[in-house]
Formats: sequence, structure tokens, C-alpha cells
Amino acid sequence: MGIVTEEQELRCAACGETSAQTVVTEFDADTSVPDLDMRPDGEHRSYIKYWVSKCPHCGYCNAAIDIPVSFTKEYLASDRYNCFDDGLAGRFRKMALVCEKNKVYAEAVKACLYAAWVNDDLGDAEQACECRKAAVKVYDSHRAEFANDPDMTLLLADIMRRSGSFDRVVREYKGRQLGSELITVIAAFEAELAEKGDDKCHKADEVPGVTVI
Ligand SMILES: [Zn+2]
Repeated sequence: MGIVTEEQELRCAACGETSAQTVVTEFDADTSVPDLDMRPDGEHRSYIKYWVSKCPHCGYCNAAIDIPVSFTKEYLASDRYNCFDDGLAGRFRKMALVCEKNKVYAEAVKACLYAAWVNDDLGDAEQACECRKAAVKVYDSHRAEFANDPDMTLLLADIMRRSGSFDRVVREYKGRQLGSELITVIAAFEAELAEKGDDKCHKADEVPGVTVI
């Protein structure tokens, strides 16, 4: 099946104009072993371009343009917002800014990560690293929001390691108990990789003792 999309007329929550948007209505699940940051395999990565939509009238970028906003459309004309281009990675960075404004911080972190994946696939290691650092910055700016979120805490270990913050991963994750035995074991693996200065992509089934079904 792959993926099924359809064109829908959606009204932008930021400016009120309507536009035709491509919406995913069906997709087959990725059953392969994910990377430690949950990045899907190559085939499913080709779908991530549908994870961000843009209003052609005001430039609002989000998972869907009818998601309500807690800012005025003037923000979308600001220099801060427009320092990113309209390529796929740039749209994810804009989505991250929007999500931060909308106070959905986990989504903001993930939008930065998706921008990093786009750059990974483009072979632009420098930009990929910059996007991961932006994700860490969102996390650090709203630390209290993530205090009881072991999944995001674990995800950040990978984002930090992949962007070269080895000392920090060792300091914050080595020997640390997290939400479940599984998360604790994966966090220990991240700390081990960080100790070796390994910033490469690793898969969940490389973690000792973890079986991915
Ligand atoms: Zn709009």
C-alpha cells in the first residue's frame, strides 16, 4: 500500500485563508528496527515531507495548517521566523518555532529532529548537527516540562550524543534510573557510546539485552 494522500481544502488557523493541502489518509506501519532516535527506515522517511504543511498565504508551518495558534500572524513575518528557508528542513525549523510558541515543547523538539533527519539524508552533517543542537536548546529552555517524560529524556540522550555533547550524555545518563528497565538500559548504552566519542547512528537492536520484535 505504501502511502495514500488526498488534497483537502484547509483553512489556516493563523491567517484565515484557505488553500489546498496534501493530507495523508493511510500509510503502512514501519515494522523495521528503528534507529535510537526512532528515525524510520528509508522508505518511510520518504513520507516525512507530509509531516509539515505550509500556508501559502502567511507562511504558517505546522503538522496541519488548521492547528490553532497562540500568537498573531505578525509573528510569521518576523525575522526570527524567516531566518529559515522553505526547504523541507527549513519548514520543520519553522514548525519547531510555532510549536514552542504554542507551548507544545515535545513537538518542538521533534520538529528540530525531523529537520536533522532531512539534513542527514542530504549528507549535510553540519546542518544536521545544528538542528540537533536547536532541539537540545528547546529542551533546555523548558526543562521542567520534560521532568516526568522518560521517553523524551531518553530521546535527548541520542540527540545530544549525535551532536557531539559526549560529556553531557555521560554526566546526565550514566548510571541513571529512568522510567522503565528498558529505557534505563538504552540510556546506559547511549552513555557507553558517548564515552567512546561515538556520534554515529545506531539501531535499537544493538543495545545489549534488548530484543526488538
Ligand atoms: Zn495562513
